Amino acid sequence: MEKVTIEMPLVSSCDVSRCGFNVNHTCHAKAITVGDNFNPGCDTFFETNEHNKENKRIAGVGACKVNTCKHNIDFECTAESIVVGFSKQKINCLTFTT
Ligand code: SF4
Ligand code: SF4
Repeated sequence: MEKVTIEMPLVSSCDVSRCGFNVNHTCHAKAITVGDNFNPGCDTFFETNEHNKENKRIAGVGACKVNTCKHNIDFECTAESIVVGFSKQKINCLTFTT
């Protein structure tokens, strides 16, 4: 397998314990995708009773489609890190700022 090394903002915490990538309030996906043009939701969320076994890696933000956020440049996130959690029962990037 070829590997790439890139800098990404970290997902510093995530409150969505029912997501398969969530262990102890931390996202352990390699990278997440945020947004659907208007809403800064976590596109990588999926609900399952199983949780991934990789529990050292912390996810980065690979792409973000919400270009109304002040941290978004060219559909990429430029924040140092983001927090994911609930906003009016939606699973959102809580670092979203206009
Ligand atoms: S950031 Fe998204 S993919 Fe990661 S644990 Fe939270 S809801 Fe799941
Ligand atoms: S902070 Fe803004 S640009 Fe970064 S992931 Fe969240 S919504 Fe997207």
